[in-house]
Amino acid sequence: MIILKLGGSVITRKEATEPTLEPVNLDRIAREIARAKPDKLIIIHGAGSFGHLHARKYEIGSPIHTKGELQEKRMGFALTQNSVKDLNHSVCHYLLEYGIPALAVPPSSFIITHNKRIKSANLEIIEKYLEMGLVPVLHGDVVPDTQKSIQMAVVSGDQLVNYLSLQLKPERIILGSDVDGIYDRDPKKHTHAQLLEVVKSLEDLQFLEGAQTVDVTGGMAGKLKELLELAGKGIESELINAGCEGLLERTLKGEKVRGTLISK
Ligand code: ADP
Repeated sequence: MIILKLGGSVITRKEATEPTLEPVNLDRIAREIARAKPDKLIIIHGAGSFGHLHARKYEIGSPIHTKGELQEKRMGFALTQNSVKDLNHSVCHYLLEYGIPALAVPPSSFIITHNKRIKSANLEIIEKYLEMGLVPVLHGDVVPDTQKSIQMAVVSGDQLVNYLSLQLKPERIILGSDVDGIYDRDPKKHTHAQLLEVVKSLEDLQFLEGAQTVDVTGGMAGKLKELLELAGKGIESELINAGCEGLLERTLKGEKVRGTLISK
């Protein structure tokens, strides 16, 4: 089994001021997955501009003090879910166009967090879909939270990668982003940033504070924390550039491509 994460930075225009798809990438990525024909596959995609705009506006995950705030956040929760569902619909649509039996599995319908970390999720349905030869497609989403002060939380695609990988023990975990891998500093801000072939600790990055993006879920720093937690438990993952033609297909086929291995 392979768990493949498609970054919101590749399938959406993350910096856009309204939810905006990146259809050319999405079409190519679906084609590459279809060509690689991985045996058992779970896809998790980020929410990109379909999620963070709403989640930030309504501050999903921040403490609720009054009834009025609760009312507003409740509406924001539903609006965010509706927006990421739109993106998920498009992702599944492109996958289906290339003959991949993609099936939407929205986290908001089966995951509960405590203090923003996944506390319970019944993965039986995902295992059943895999057995049936279907490709479950999950995504960054909003979920109920049992911490009374916040009541709702955003669960990132990266946290889902962490949780699902621990539970389902896939053979490979591949994350496709819009950069060639993890660098010693943000490659978009520093022309001399060095690509790291292997990352074993947050200290491998020189400027962690720069590793944030517009992402409400923590950008590269948040992603790396999730992946290092997995690495610490002996589960390796790979980060590659899914915005670059052919890399995803080659890596899915087992070829070694440019990227970063996150390991112990
Ligand atoms: P995605 O949406 O693909 O999951 P994010 O937008 O959360 O990914 O993170 C990827 C972005 O993180 C890159 O576009 C890059 O600009 C930024 N970034 C910050 N620091 C680093 C770093 N040290 N190495 C690689 N990318 C970094």
